Amino acid sequence: MELNISSGSNSSGEPKHTQVLIIGAGPAGLSAALYAARAELEPVVLTGMTMGGQVSITHIIENYPGFPEGLPGPELGELFKAQAERFGAEVVFDTATEVDFSERPYKVKTYGGEYTADTVIISTGATPRHLEVPGEVELTGKGVSYCGTCDGFFFKDKEVVVVGGGDSAMEEGGFLTRFANKVTVVHRRDELRASPILESRAKANPKIDFIWDTVIKSIDGENAVNQVVLENTKTGEQSTFDTDGVFIFIGHTPNTELFEGQLELDEDGYLVVNKYMETNIPGVYAAGEVADPHFRQVITSAGMGAAAAIQATRYLEGLE
Ligand code: NAP
Repeated sequence: MELNISSGSNSSGEPKHTQVLIIGAGPAGLSAALYAARAELEPVVLTGMTMGGQVSITHIIENYPGFPEGLPGPELGELFKAQAERFGAEVVFDTATEVDFSERPYKVKTYGGEYTADTVIISTGATPRHLEVPGEVELTGKGVSYCGTCDGFFFKDKEVVVVGGGDSAMEEGGFLTRFANKVTVVHRRDELRASPILESRAKANPKIDFIWDTVIKSIDGENAVNQVVLENTKTGEQSTFDTDGVFIFIGHTPNTELFEGQLELDEDGYLVVNKYMETNIPGVYAAGEVADPHFRQVITSAGMGAAAAIQATRYLEGLE
């Protein structure tokens, strides 16, 4: 992927000013960039370290409308970027390190320099929590996944393990039974955290089994997952369990550290926005998974990004 590596400051070292600064280049950020660029606001997008966001680590995206055959996640990210750039968005490979929303123009420091901005759209995403066990990183994309909706189809007539006892694990576990012959939920306690309706639905599903009081100690396989090592949390007893895939749903961490103390966060650390994508600071918006613990889909994030940019455009018109 071709990326612009430019500095956030001009040649005299002054901060670079932009009307719309977008922090994060996943579906939300790049959709916001497309809309802001088409409003001739020449937005600047800071990519952070993972251009494309979680999309870029997804093998194939089959549920983004307009692509009936699906397409590789990195390719969709590239198309989002190209479309925003076509209308004048500047996508910069740089990471925000500090923000100051105490007065306008807002200030954003980056590794490369400093920006001032009339409006800021935050789309820094969320990171799926990892188990942090041997084999997890090596086998990600080769049987280890954090997204049933994205990868379930590849497990047609196979057997998979789902890790976690929350709503995501139950919902995604149920979704996986459309493809897999058998889904085994491995949960570290003997009761679920999930809401009663999702719990009873999962327990009534004949394709779902549960292994209670158990954690995964390692995920094994050469180029594909073939087993996990389990440990009973009560007895300490270890065993192996054959499986073709491991789906991990143990929560997400929104990438909001940078904004702590300046923007309102909910109890789980997500940015709080209203239906206009507005945060508690006028002219500062949030879109995508950084502000959405609920849907977490490419299309919903893209929609939030578009909404944030439309609202930023109206806000700037109001300032004039
Ligand atoms: P969650 O509610 O935080 O559940 C995470 C689960 O993973 C818990 O069961 C937890 O175990 C387990 N876990 C955490 N760390 C672990 C580790 N290191 N090893 C093994 N297990 C671990 O996360 P979520 O399910 O993603 O849900 C997040 C939010 O989105 C919730 O508010 C949820 O209600 C909402 N949501 C709603 C829906 C819906 O309404 N349809 C769907 C999805 C998500 P413990 O139970 O022992 O802590």
